[in-house]
Amino acid sequence: MSTREWLRRLVAFDTTSRNSNLALIETVRDALAAQGVTSELSYAPEGGKANLFATLPAHDGATQGGIVLSGHTDVVPVDGQDWGSDPFSLTEKDGRLYGRGTADMKGFIAASLALVPHFLSLKRTKPLHLAFSYDEEVGCLGAPVMLAALKQRGVRPEGCVVGEPTGMRVVVAHKGMNLYRCRVHGKAAHSSLTTRGCNAIEHAARLICHLRDLADQFKSQGPYDECYDVPFTTLSTNLVSGGIAVNTIPDACEFSYEFRNLPGMSPDGIQRRVEAYIQTELLPRMRRDHDAARVEIEAMPVAVLALEASEREAITRLVRALTGDKGTSKVSYGTEGGQFQNAGIPAVVCGPGHIEQAHRADEYIDIAQLTACEDFLRKLAGSMVD
Ligand SMILES: [Zn+2]
Repeated sequence: MSTREWLRRLVAFDTTSRNSNLALIETVRDALAAQGVTSELSYAPEGGKANLFATLPAHDGATQGGIVLSGHTDVVPVDGQDWGSDPFSLTEKDGRLYGRGTADMKGFIAASLALVPHFLSLKRTKPLHLAFSYDEEVGCLGAPVMLAALKQRGVRPEGCVVGEPTGMRVVVAHKGMNLYRCRVHGKAAHSSLTTRGCNAIEHAARLICHLRDLADQFKSQGPYDECYDVPFTTLSTNLVSGGIAVNTIPDACEFSYEFRNLPGMSPDGIQRRVEAYIQTELLPRMRRDHDAARVEIEAMPVAVLALEASEREAITRLVRALTGDKGTSKVSYGTEGGQFQNAGIPAVVCGPGHIEQAHRADEYIDIAQLTACEDFLRKLAGSMVD
């Protein structure tokens, strides 16, 4: 089946992250099984979704080492978007293929699947692995489940290509993303009796301002990496709620903040600075109003780890050699690459299509990009032949 035919089939599954991806995963599993390739499925704890990992062994049957081709099967919603064609029906126009997920990132998955017969025909000295995940778009929730399953089975690939849309350029780094929910608990009182209450909104505001001060410090003091649009770690509060009436001192205030850390900066280290402020300054002050005042912080289950590929790693050198791209590209969007790297599998990001065309109405991929991706994958597999 051609890349285009695969893409037509993949796009037809509405794998918006809130939906199950099992119909797609089972179709891929069955198509691989028909070619003698076994898939390992790892399921979401809540059910309804799965990752697929399949190994195309080397000619001598070896399954260790080798390179992973990684893609996520979920897509972002089309809600409220004004599409010129059915987003779940692949539509060709002027050298482009339109449909949800064509660029991000079913195009890469389609090219990988279309080339499986070719990969199997080569006398490769190393295995190739396919890793297709769920729930990337809602915080990279699927890949850790797959990586844990690999670890348990003792599978140790030596490199990974994450096929997110980069226009087939080599992306070697991106920031991490960390999201926290904070609940400030004070004490309610009639608003005329301020000394009897503990105003949760006011204390939350102190913490929010402290977060902003930290953000300003990163901006003014670094560390910096000028390869990014915003060349420093950012921190911001983007959602807040609290209070029940204009004449009642609020006993609760909740807000959410995020930081996007440069790869060299530890997200835990930043969070420890926030916690230190709460313990040494905010809480003592709150408890002068009310003994039982407290602050709870919950790390949200979003695990976009930063990626920083070493130029010395074999996978970086190989993908640079195959694409001819020597530039240092670092991007502001997250990928599963950081999770592979964190699991001891060096990763780079390189895939067909452009991120500017993703997530919007009339998402498309240039047919030329798919062709370039096929060429790249053929060369990648060819590099494993003696
Ligand atoms: Zn993506």
